[in-house]
Amino acid sequence: MRILLYGGSFNPPHWGHIRSARTAAAALEPDKTFLIPAAIPPHKRLAAETPDWPHRFAMTSLAAGEIPGCQASDMELCRTGPSYTSDTLRQMRERYPAAELVFLMGTDMLLSLESWHEPEVILSLASVAVFARETGREREINACAAHLREKYGATVYVLEGQPVTVSSTRIRALLPERQGREYLPDSVYEYIIRHRLYGARPDLAWLRERAYMYLKPTRVEHVRGAEAMARRLALRWGADESDAAEAAILHDCTKKYDRDGQLRICEKYGIIPDKWELENDRLLHAGTGAAFAADQFGAPEHIASAIRWHTTGRPGMTLLEQIVFLADAIEENRKPYPALETIRKAAFRDLDAAMELCLRRTLAFLEEQGEPIHPDTARTQEFYLKKLEDKGVAPIEWAAQNG
Ligand code: ATP
Repeated sequence: MRILLYGGSFNPPHWGHIRSARTAAAALEPDKTFLIPAAIPPHKRLAAETPDWPHRFAMTSLAAGEIPGCQASDMELCRTGPSYTSDTLRQMRERYPAAELVFLMGTDMLLSLESWHEPEVILSLASVAVFARETGREREINACAAHLREKYGATVYVLEGQPVTVSSTRIRALLPERQGREYLPDSVYEYIIRHRLYGARPDLAWLRERAYMYLKPTRVEHVRGAEAMARRLALRWGADESDAAEAAILHDCTKKYDRDGQLRICEKYGIIPDKWELENDRLLHAGTGAAFAADQFGAPEHIASAIRWHTTGRPGMTLLEQIVFLADAIEENRKPYPALETIRKAAFRDLDAAMELCLRRTLAFLEEQGEPIHPDTARTQEFYLKKLEDKGVAPIEWAAQNG
């Protein structure tokens, strides 16, 4: 029986780890493979942004799913003190007395192996398999393997394959920049985004692909338009363009659900709809969308609140909330409605005036339709009217009957 063991911080686990484990599994044909995340790696300090160990374990389990016959082991996470490989191998030896244990590692680890805690114990309990992290170091690896064989009588397998030149450190730096997705299996990337580990922000192409799955096909064009407009407004008004895009991509993520569906989502997230939302269930998707985006896509507070208030508005909206509110109302694919062009122009000249007119137009429209008016909309219009007054700016002239 042969057991392949792969220890590391897995912070997060990436294609480099998976490629080397797959290569080792194909070459050595182990009966079992374990990825073993270290609780306290003896060789390096865990980065400050390291998530709690249950997250690291969950990501490692997802990565293990990409490797045939592999599972994550929590044995080091359950131990106290530094996660010495020699202790792990002793435990494994007890569990599998007759098996060949093979400890897999990358170039950096092989070259520093003699400086580890109890290297002679490691090399007596296990064989070592090495997979290069980068090309061009074959000579160094072979020399080190020969040295370990000679000095310790070690069994060292030097594996061949195309390396994936990446480190978890690099990925942690890329994730907040909406990059790095290509180095991670989708399951791990999705987990990171959902929990916003490492300050990650989603790659927007990935987010579109995911978020559009929740839309009716006929709504996609509107969401695309809202994203484009939100980006333009963000550039005009100095907001973060990619956050504006993210909020716009997600703003209608629960819109397709009917009243029953909306109420089910309310129940799931503990949302208590108010009387106006119950009367007009088109209002419900703002609250359910915010909760859903936070839960499924890890939308942070400022983005969730832009989704939350994109339908009624609220007094004192943040810049991002205003941008998403207006982008939704004036995006290029909107069917023409009275005042649309005026609001579009105003949105790039005076955000407050655009908000005020957009809300005034909505109030007029609802009144005309005899639909209930949510008090938040009326209050928000009053808020912007007052803001314009305070600035000494006259509201934009527009009368409902003028079209
Ligand atoms: P960090 O950047 O946080 O230091 P890391 O990317 O080096 O992390 P670890 O989880 O610490 O990854 O490494 C665990 C094991 O995986 C080590 O033996 C390491 O040599 C190996 N390894 C890491 N990255 C690669 C890679 N790209 N290709 C092959 N092996 C790798």
